[in-house]
Amino acid sequence: MRPFKSTISLDEARRRMAANVRPVERIERVGLPDAAGRVAAADIRSAVAVPPFSRSAMDGYAVIAADTSPATPDRPVRLRIVDRIYTGIAASSRIGPSTCAEIATGAPLPDGADAVVMVEETTPAGDDHVDIQAMAAAGQNIGRRGADISPGDIVVRRGESLNPSRVGAAAAIGCVELEVFARPRVAVLSTGNEVIDPGAPLAPGQIYDVNRFTLGAVIAANGGIAEAHRPAQDTMDALFSALDGCAGADLIVFSGGSSVGERDLVVDLVEARGTMIFHGIAVKPGKPTAFAMVDGVPFLGMPGNPTSCLSNAYILLVPYLRATARLPLYAPKTVRAPLGRTIVSPAGRHQFYTVRLQDGAAFPAFKGSGDITSLSQADGYIEIPASESTIQAGTVVEITLF
Ligand code: AMP
Ligand code: MG
Repeated sequence: MRPFKSTISLDEARRRMAANVRPVERIERVGLPDAAGRVAAADIRSAVAVPPFSRSAMDGYAVIAADTSPATPDRPVRLRIVDRIYTGIAASSRIGPSTCAEIATGAPLPDGADAVVMVEETTPAGDDHVDIQAMAAAGQNIGRRGADISPGDIVVRRGESLNPSRVGAAAAIGCVELEVFARPRVAVLSTGNEVIDPGAPLAPGQIYDVNRFTLGAVIAANGGIAEAHRPAQDTMDALFSALDGCAGADLIVFSGGSSVGERDLVVDLVEARGTMIFHGIAVKPGKPTAFAMVDGVPFLGMPGNPTSCLSNAYILLVPYLRATARLPLYAPKTVRAPLGRTIVSPAGRHQFYTVRLQDGAAFPAFKGSGDITSLSQADGYIEIPASESTIQAGTVVEITLF
């Protein structure tokens, strides 16, 4: 055993990771249907006006506003209908004094008209006339050409993430393809002589690989491409060649072997090939976590215990990966509820304690760091600062939801 020299606080771990983010620089082109969730790598500038023509924003009548003064429901103004304008055609008529055109929402405004009266403010007066019951103001119910976007406008800026509305802005200007930052490639590798692939029967002492799949899911959900490798044995040779197999990755995430046992070789691996930035965080679960630069690539050594590994994936890997991918930080939802049972937490470690919500209260779901059901059967977690050790039943706590 080689005990931790010292542990650092969670805040300090986050600071050191944030100081070592390397945002991806590679750029690729994607079609608009594949752009959602990506990050624009170049400004998207419009060549067209949106809307491309002045149009009606209502079903109603295109009028000359001055003609409608002083219409009221009791004393309507009668106008002659000279055209019926539907969407998808060019308006050909011209509206002169005391005339109007019936017009559909989205149809081009005819020349001469400067307002649209909605159909609810009119009554028919035979086939060729309509009675306008309300005075129109010039410009009302009209979407002017270019009012949304003018030619030359930037509709999405470099670095902005392509959420549905920004995909919509790109679509509105007729964009077909756009430049986005490449997704970070994240190599994921489990270590441990006992860890095997699913599909094979378990020999004595063996377990199925969990971390490769939980990490892969977290990475895919946060803008990365998880490149999963087969589990590696706990020997330096196996770890060196596993590391070589991760060449080309933007971030390497190992799990297991990050603690202080004789067979925990991740620290030796880092010392042989890179620079340790920290090893050991004062959190529970997840203390044996290492962060380093290995062959110039950021390297996270996660604990093997599935709950510790996944917990730290949420807490440390997600913000780091999103910053690498240039995605905005993810702020999980929180709710408040009274604690259903008293919880005791070790002093001196910031604990993430999983809970289940039931009948309006939060009940402990945490079994042990090695138990994946500590997480899979929980709705979220509460945080117990290092300075606190007991939280009494009934105390209202803030639960961060998964
Ligand atoms: P370690 O961090 O290597 O000391 O492992 C701690 C515990 O987690 C041990 O019980 C391991 O068998 C278990 N473990 C390590 N890696 C994995 C994995 N990929 N999937 C499931 N359990 C694991
Ligand atoms: Mg191990």
